[in-house]
Amino acid sequence: MKLYNTLTRKKEEFKPLNGNTVRMYSCGPTVYNYAHIGNLRTYVFMDLLRRVLKYEGYKLKGVMNITDVGHLMADSDDGEDKMAKSAREQNKDPYEIAEFYTDVFFKDFAKLNIGRPEVVCKATDHIQEMIDYVVGLCEKGYGYETSDGIYYDIEKFPDYGCLSGNSLDDLKAGARIEVNDEKRSPYDFAIWKKAPKEHLMQWPSPWGQGYPGWHIECSAMSKKYLGEVFDIHSGGVDHIPIHHENEIAQSQGLTGKNPAKFWIHGEFMLVDGGKMSKSLGNTYTIEQLEKMGYSPMVFRYFCLNAHYRKKLNFTFETMDSAKISYERLCQAILKHKNASDNLDEEKLNKYIEEFNEDVADDLNIPSALGVLWTMLKEPASKNVYETALKFDKVFGLSLDLVKEEKAEIPQDIIDKAEKMQLARKEKDYATADAIRNELASLGYIVKNTKDGYEIDVKA
Ligand code: AMP
Ligand code: ZN
Repeated sequence: MKLYNTLTRKKEEFKPLNGNTVRMYSCGPTVYNYAHIGNLRTYVFMDLLRRVLKYEGYKLKGVMNITDVGHLMADSDDGEDKMAKSAREQNKDPYEIAEFYTDVFFKDFAKLNIGRPEVVCKATDHIQEMIDYVVGLCEKGYGYETSDGIYYDIEKFPDYGCLSGNSLDDLKAGARIEVNDEKRSPYDFAIWKKAPKEHLMQWPSPWGQGYPGWHIECSAMSKKYLGEVFDIHSGGVDHIPIHHENEIAQSQGLTGKNPAKFWIHGEFMLVDGGKMSKSLGNTYTIEQLEKMGYSPMVFRYFCLNAHYRKKLNFTFETMDSAKISYERLCQAILKHKNASDNLDEEKLNKYIEEFNEDVADDLNIPSALGVLWTMLKEPASKNVYETALKFDKVFGLSLDLVKEEKAEIPQDIIDKAEKMQLARKEKDYATADAIRNELASLGYIVKNTKDGYEIDVKA
């Protein structure tokens, strides 16, 4: 299969480095608030990548971190820690905040059929690994101490910017200059921060009480669980210019290697053509969408209609169309569900081949969905139903759970059926049969089940 590698800016043939197992690291959430639909688009993308790799026959060792310390408001070295801010605002302990939002996050995963990576690791459980990493960087001359923390010396890594294509010179020309006289270069970033007394989360370290920089957690945890070099590192496109650039710099400093062979990034979701933000009130959650009548599967279907490297614009009009399409898709599946005929094998294999080509071509899920739609237009066939469910191992749209809606049964019919049951109990089979025939003439079939009986509408 081919995947687009941000590092080389090309689609490249993908093969795991070791055997048949793909080692993959995905940047996880900062658990200080509810995940919004933009965040969740990125995890639907992570899930699609995992599903396609499994479909291709690979085993997975996926790692996702939970950021519960160190991510500052400005995504850089300034501002309050997001966890501490949320804890202060809600008058709670930051660990309580982390537990609450982590729990909601995984409930969203379950609703959206997003598979949980094999390893989920919290930053606060890996403080020692991060300290060791920072000590290592200092020993190798990449880290230096100032009065407020330990910084990475960017000039020591001339390839800084290799992922985003920004050279150090470009950065120098364009970046805002921070006021921190002690930094050797304004572009140096914190790998460890010294904590003022009142700082909520802090740990002892060789540099006194402190807390980790945001970027160091991913380097320390990916190295611990996946080794110095692994197959795939994924995340949202916003991580390319800073977070992932800094992860690469840290790994190069400590191990001399780029930590991942493939760097894969999902594009952003927009709302009404613009940015999502709290102040615009457009950072919807899955729960809010559910209250508005859009099921999580409709949202997943909506995400699947855009390639992961394309921006996806969320509007209620497009969500309405997604809802209609998803309902039609379910109807189309039902047409094939109880069929007894089979589609000609050669025809079916053509659909399977097209589907296989699409998913192996840098996850062309929108095109693969097109194949599913065309296949479902075939006359009702059992093997089409079975193939659709195989495709759904990649889509994750719960197509196996789609059931015929039971028609509402009028009360007088239920009353007749009850009478029939009573007659049967009293062994008055003549009356029972008479009622059964009467119901049949009205269009209803009564079937005996192990728990009693069921009334079906005649086809
Ligand atoms: P955070 O919890 O802020 O660390 O973000 C979690 C993930 O959501 C990151 O991988 C981001 O790249 C991603 N993300 C944030 N905003 C959006 C958006 N509007 N569209 C898609 N992904 C996003
Ligand atoms: Zn990360």
